[in-house]
Amino acid sequence: MSKRDERSSERKSCLNRRDFLKTGAAAAAGAAVVQPFAVRSATADTTVRARPKVVRVHDDRATYWDYSSNYYFDHVNQGVVDDMLDVGVKCLTNTFTVADAWNVIMASYVPGDKVAVKINMNNYAGMSNEMDAIAPSINALCHGLVDVMGIPVADIRVYDCSRPIHQQRVKDRVNYAVTYVESGDALAQADYDAPVTFRNISTQYIPLVVSQSQHLINLPLFKDHFYVLATMCFKNHLGTSKPGPSSLHSSIHTNLSDFYVNPHIRDKTRLVLGDALFGLWNGGPYGDPVQWDTFPNGPTPNSLFLSFDPVAHESVMVDYLLAEQAHHGVGETSHDYLHEAMDYHNLGVHEHCNGLGNYTNIWYIERDAHYGEDCWRGNVNKGAGLVPNVLFVNGSAGVNGGVVEVPAGQPIVITLNAPPSRSMSKYALYAWNRQPEACCHKTQPWDLGHTCLPTPMNGASPQPVLIWNNLGYQSVLGVPNRFAPQAPCTIANVAGGLPAGRLYTLQGIIQDDAAIHPQAAVTNAVVIKTV
Ligand SMILES: [Zn+2]
Repeated sequence: MSKRDERSSERKSCLNRRDFLKTGAAAAAGAAVVQPFAVRSATADTTVRARPKVVRVHDDRATYWDYSSNYYFDHVNQGVVDDMLDVGVKCLTNTFTVADAWNVIMASYVPGDKVAVKINMNNYAGMSNEMDAIAPSINALCHGLVDVMGIPVADIRVYDCSRPIHQQRVKDRVNYAVTYVESGDALAQADYDAPVTFRNISTQYIPLVVSQSQHLINLPLFKDHFYVLATMCFKNHLGTSKPGPSSLHSSIHTNLSDFYVNPHIRDKTRLVLGDALFGLWNGGPYGDPVQWDTFPNGPTPNSLFLSFDPVAHESVMVDYLLAEQAHHGVGETSHDYLHEAMDYHNLGVHEHCNGLGNYTNIWYIERDAHYGEDCWRGNVNKGAGLVPNVLFVNGSAGVNGGVVEVPAGQPIVITLNAPPSRSMSKYALYAWNRQPEACCHKTQPWDLGHTCLPTPMNGASPQPVLIWNNLGYQSVLGVPNRFAPQAPCTIANVAGGLPAGRLYTLQGIIQDDAAIHPQAAVTNAVVIKTV
């Protein structure tokens, strides 16, 4: 089998994705079952890289263009995109607050550092609908870097060294006074102390905007290309190269990975953020955004893709592109550069999906921000207003995701209040012997809400190890293995405490007359950690 045949058969299963789509929810549920919800600390970056995580955050409220009126980039809900990125960074880093997430992503940041952001201005022209970098994703990124992390806005350098940055399309619509670096600027010139060597073409150089920045964020678009399969996070850096991209187009597959492996790119990249609010699956890099038939929740992608691994990031994005192209009978352009990036330079993991969004070596997570309330808050009393905590450990509902740290051997008292709407409540309460994944909440049936881990109603693993249930319906809510008096009550009183290193997550369903569901709500979650 030739190399090319191998590559085409390697992803053949994805061409059956329309069949797969028919299975809909069952497939999604199946995918969730196999997710390895391993316990990871927020900073366990090396573990994350072992099986690289790619997160797609979707929200159908992000854009509202009709594909004909005015400018597509003026039909974006900035607040929704901000929320999507907040959800995405928390999910990527497995943290419960946006501040914690950015502190993981930018862990090596010290005040005074510069942050270069590579946008794609490949279609720079007058005011048109040709797909190019647009302001909403830049604004959302600045919200994290400037508003949340407190990085001085002028230290954010939004750049494209080979094109001007459009005044009306970008500068007038970005709400932050970032530093722009565009073709012709002093910082867009080559740093001759920062050469990039290639296997097949002569040396190029990193521009000063990157060599003199400590951090790099790669902000590509969701477009195909006629030279290579896609212009995403790899090809985006042709606008970083000096003297410029033209000579890079011969031997492009080796050039793309040879460029990315340069330490200024590979070692400084803190985040790859794919702006897939809109997409273009044929005719790129030129052309207006188009509607999609096979993209989940289409016809507009309304998505952001996040990863630390550029190869995994692009592998997932191109699978959506390949599926759409196959659906329309569009001939496939080579993506050998992704195989080069993995096989020759070890830049990350390249894999093709085995069914929609289903990967073995890439940890791919899809998250819908529209329904993405923080799982640990629960929804007690939400039909009436504010959501109070009802579950406490030693009187505390915890901080940052409900975590309560208890010294080893110290008493642990778990109490459950009735919701404000009732004096007494029955409940089904669960304890899992693991920490929740910040992003991997489980949606409970009958609009009950979201829990942080799967309940007996979901059937997925990991299932709770302790169950208190005085609501009945044991075949649905679980067979209790602990005595359960009605709330308000003491659930457990472990006078002698537990050894260090134990970890339990507690959450349940409780009778609530002011819930969104007519009868019951999801309690807050509390994570007990013994230290
Ligand atoms: Zn491939």
